[in-house]
Amino acid sequence: MDIKRNIRAICSSLPESVKLVAVSKFHPVESIKEAYEAGQRIFGESRVQELTAKQPVLPEDIEWHFIGTLQTNKVRYIAPFISMIQSVDSIRLLQEINRRAGECNRIIHVLIEVHIAEEDSKHGFSPDECKSLFTQKTLRQFPGVRVCGLMGMATFTDDADRIRREFGILRNLFKEIKSMPDTDKDIFTELSMGMSDDYNTAIEEGSTMIRIGTGIFGTREY
Ligand SMILES: *Cc1c(COP(=O)(O)O)cnc(C)c1O
Repeated sequence: MDIKRNIRAICSSLPESVKLVAVSKFHPVESIKEAYEAGQRIFGESRVQELTAKQPVLPEDIEWHFIGTLQTNKVRYIAPFISMIQSVDSIRLLQEINRRAGECNRIIHVLIEVHIAEEDSKHGFSPDECKSLFTQKTLRQFPGVRVCGLMGMATFTDDADRIRREFGILRNLFKEIKSMPDTDKDIFTELSMGMSDDYNTAIEEGSTMIRIGTGIFGTREY
């Protein structure tokens, strides 16, 4: 894999409004350094243990995004340095992030993960549950958490129409929440959707943040 070339190719094709998260899970520190040398600064990881091993040995100006299932008992390990937790899928997790943010004197940026795929395996709030987080002002209880937008994953399928439809559901939800009177439009700005196989569709459907692993680093060895 020519990591630098992949990064440059993807970045040069992106609209200016779209950020690239390089998903480095299961890839070694050396691969992350290569991507960093090509100018990449935002990296996504999905396991706490792996992230806390990598973070101290890599440059400090990397913005780490957590994108995997996060157990509440592990939030404290990443709270001191994480730039964004994209995979918030429960109120309990919001509570814990809020608590740990307070301890670190930080405000932690998060995205609410929404379940848009037809598969049961994907995590996240249903669109209705997500909406009620905002309408019921639940989020006000968590001053240490800044909700910057939504994240979602489409069904793993070859059916391009279905993928587009699912991204459309997320975009409409994002717009609806953004237009609510209590939503701060300067903060609620990110719509994280699109991975290696579907990011072009995601961008057409309004993504502001794509998360690409395989397309940069090659296949993962689990
Ligand atoms: C692994 C992962 C990605 C990257 O997937 P690729 O298909 O390798 O680009 C993106 N988002 C999430 C939430 C992931 O877990």
